[in-house]
Amino acid sequence: MEIRLRAENCTICGACEAACPYDAVVMGNDGPQFTDECTVCGACVEACPADALYIDKEEEVSSHSQRQKGAGDVWVFAEQRDGKLLDVVMELMGEGRRLASQLGVSLGCLLLGGEVDHLVQELFEFGADQVYAGCAPELKHYRDDLYAQVVEHAVRQYRPEILLIGGTSNGRSLAPRVATKLGTGLTADCTGFALDEDGNLLQTRPAFGGNLMATIRCPNHRPQMATVRPKVFPKPARQPGRQGQVIALELPAFKPWQRILEIVDGADTGPNLAEADIVVAGGRGLGSPANFRLVEELASALGAAVGASRAVVDAGWVSYPHQVGQTGRTVAPKIYIACGISGAIQHIVGMQSSEVIVAINSDPDAPIFNIATYGIVGKVEEVIPALIREIKGSTSQ
Ligand SMILES: Cc1cc2nc3c(=O)[nH]c(=O)nc-3n(C[C@H](O)[C@H](O)[C@H](O)COP(=O)(O)OP(=O)(O)OC[C@H]3O[C@@H](n4cnc5c(N)ncnc54)[C@H](O)[C@@H]3O)c2cc1C
Repeated sequence: MEIRLRAENCTICGACEAACPYDAVVMGNDGPQFTDECTVCGACVEACPADALYIDKEEEVSSHSQRQKGAGDVWVFAEQRDGKLLDVVMELMGEGRRLASQLGVSLGCLLLGGEVDHLVQELFEFGADQVYAGCAPELKHYRDDLYAQVVEHAVRQYRPEILLIGGTSNGRSLAPRVATKLGTGLTADCTGFALDEDGNLLQTRPAFGGNLMATIRCPNHRPQMATVRPKVFPKPARQPGRQGQVIALELPAFKPWQRILEIVDGADTGPNLAEADIVVAGGRGLGSPANFRLVEELASALGAAVGASRAVVDAGWVSYPHQVGQTGRTVAPKIYIACGISGAIQHIVGMQSSEVIVAINSDPDAPIFNIATYGIVGKVEEVIPALIREIKGSTSQ
């Protein structure tokens, strides 16, 4: 597959050169020339106002086999913390695999850290065809400056078509930096992916406060970048023994602009909200910060994580990492117990995939009951202590 020029149409306007995401178009006196950087992404063809460029598909078979490794592939950023892959990486690999198969390309994982060899096999077993590994003591802990620099360098070298990044606190910081450096688009917090007839990624995400779903395309720039929060997609099945290829990244000369003084563990106590099997969440219906302790007590009795609505986070009853919803975490536990939460759409988008939803609310018409598996109409101050007594009683027998 190659870009061809209809010289008779070309006005040498430069639109193709400006549109190329890889600086692969050089404008000469006779029209554009295409360098080895060209991935035949088609951005120049779309940008041309004179219909002077077209994609010659005749060349498809031979050039596909000759194209540089990685070009046109789907990549997942394999975020690791303390030497462990985050679950969101595997969740993205399930989606990445599906998109790569539809596009007829490979699934690559970009793995950075101080020492990452022990993670490579796990990535192969969850579907990676290639692992692009970058190891250096400076990359042991995530840091914006160096990680963004290395990801940019790797993308420029291998030119993936799609780059998916987990919507974690690090991913949310990394993705826009990389997108800006590459001059490409980024869709944050996607909840669904598809491909259009030209192979462009259709990126769906909630918009206008979750009241409608927007589908976004990035046809003129590459790679197409998106973040996805944990628990949005299911983790694919592991295929023990599956093999792939490791490609050692050439690391650029680091240009640090941050200095790490100290690394402090998160102050979170109890199970991790995004990964907990049971979440007990409290809302404004609890009435006071003192009553929010009832939620913590119930969570502790059940071995659950504590969640919260934005109303109580904004009121300072509990810290932001506990917030569930559109601007907080997305959770999908086996059981979600909503205490004194009305069920605003912005809250529901963060917990509606829970297997069983139990709602406690004094208002029988509260919207949360529309999605609840079990509803308890009653005051939280009475219902929660009764539940705690029941649970403690049953566990002490
Ligand atoms: C752009 C945007 C993003 C947002 N992001 C989020 C988000 O990420 N997460 C989020 O949660 N919200 C978010 N919100 C806010 C959201 O719209 C709601 O305002 C919020 O979820 C309401 O919180 P709540 O249910 O605790 O409070 P309320 O809506 O005030 O509901 C309190 C509920 O408690 C019940 N109640 C009262 N007394 C008792 C009692 N004694 N016993 C039992 N029940 C009782 C009431 O009947 C009521 O249903 C966002 C809003 C916007 C505009």
